[in-house]
Amino acid sequence: MKIAVVGTGYVGLVTGTCFAEVGIEVTCIDIDQKKIDNLHKGILPIYEPGLEEMVSRNVSAGRLSFSTNLAEAIKECDVAFIAVGTPPGEDGSADLKYVLAVARGIGESMNNYCVVVTKSTVPVGTAAKVRKELEDALAKRGANIEFDVASNPEFLKEGAAIDDFLKPDRIVVGISSERAEEVMSRLYKPFLLNGHPIIFMDIPSAEMTKYAANSMLATKISFMNDIANLCEIMGADVNMVRKGIGSDARIGTKFIYPGIGYGGSCFPKDVKALIKTASENGYEMQVLKAVESVNDAQKEVLFDKVSKHFGGELSGKKFAVWGLSFKPKTDDMREAPSLVIIEKLLAEGGTVSAYDPVAMEEAKHSLGDRITYAKDPFEALVDADALLVVTEWPEFRSPSFEVVGKLLKDKVIFDGRNIYDPAELRELGFAYHCIGVKTAH
Ligand code: NAD
Repeated sequence: MKIAVVGTGYVGLVTGTCFAEVGIEVTCIDIDQKKIDNLHKGILPIYEPGLEEMVSRNVSAGRLSFSTNLAEAIKECDVAFIAVGTPPGEDGSADLKYVLAVARGIGESMNNYCVVVTKSTVPVGTAAKVRKELEDALAKRGANIEFDVASNPEFLKEGAAIDDFLKPDRIVVGISSERAEEVMSRLYKPFLLNGHPIIFMDIPSAEMTKYAANSMLATKISFMNDIANLCEIMGADVNMVRKGIGSDARIGTKFIYPGIGYGGSCFPKDVKALIKTASENGYEMQVLKAVESVNDAQKEVLFDKVSKHFGGELSGKKFAVWGLSFKPKTDDMREAPSLVIIEKLLAEGGTVSAYDPVAMEEAKHSLGDRITYAKDPFEALVDADALLVVTEWPEFRSPSFEVVGKLLKDKVIFDGRNIYDPAELRELGFAYHCIGVKTAH
């Protein structure tokens, strides 16, 4: 089979590379010439564990190539994936201009039957718009070429994207013809050999599944953060409560960790877009509205603890920040809670020295030289008044607290991810603040 993947970002590059890995001929297309030039030199636009080796292996084997030429790639391909961004528009709805531009481009160039698949996260009804773009483009050319549209939302997690793609919990495909089902079954067959299921459904249901999944996950996070805040007020320990409820199989242990709010390119925009879709259709997503407002407030919780600890006097104080990306194992800074916290510290006259294993280059796009970037976690601590743990990278989990205590001006830690043991840190003489636990100092 021959496929094209349009949009070579977190989703498109992983998708294209994983299909090449199982022997399919893949062209990854992007509008960004620099991205494609870099990929030709083996430089990836994103950090994703294991991806660089996999790209290089498949390029060498001749199965994976990169281009800006959509028209060329689309000729003779069996499946074309649209994996471009769907950022929030001004009103919160998903902006479909990139998706529809690609659909038009495909219609202008295709010359044989092809399944055009939206892999981008798109609201219910988008496949119908994609179909219309294709039909209009074909009509303009006077071309009579059959095609199908399908919806194949992506569930990969940044940081574990390759594993998620190669060993998916499930593959969801929305189709409206047997022919498209047959093509998509053949394409995904290599991923199903170990029992991973493919679920075929109608297209609107597939489109909705992605939003429902992300909204449910965001709900779990905001729910747990709400419980954590109440635990703190009432003198309960959310870490215990989490274990207590997680042992109920109906609740489960995953995704119930309190913290400083969800970020990233998906949850915030998808929750917003679903609220908007509902309101445009006369329905109010009451739960999701609360999820969003709890999350906005939660991004400020760690700053509030810092401010309270220092009696509101942050001017001239230096803060070490460990972790910038919105979660570990990615360089993605989109909607990262670190940005909210750092902006607030700077606005109060504080200074920030940050360290992140991979996201510092990305962070410079938003923070520039308004903060300093340390070459390792310990350098960030030198003469700082406090340490803030913002992203739970594995390397922050077990530092030498003796060294941390010596480098910091004051032995104060604000742990936004609850990765340390309050009792241990208290014993070592730290003032330790975390989420959802009343910590003495
Ligand atoms: P991204 O911003 O990393 O990548 C999008 C790419 O599309 C960019 O490289 C951009 O240059 C390119 N592009 C834009 N217009 C184009 C055009 N006309 N032709 C060719 N290329 C074009 O985005 P992403 O994070 O990969 O997300 C893509 C979609 O997948 C979004 O809808 C997102 O919601 C969804 N999604 C993302 C994730 C994730 O973890 N990042 C997971 C599941 C689903």
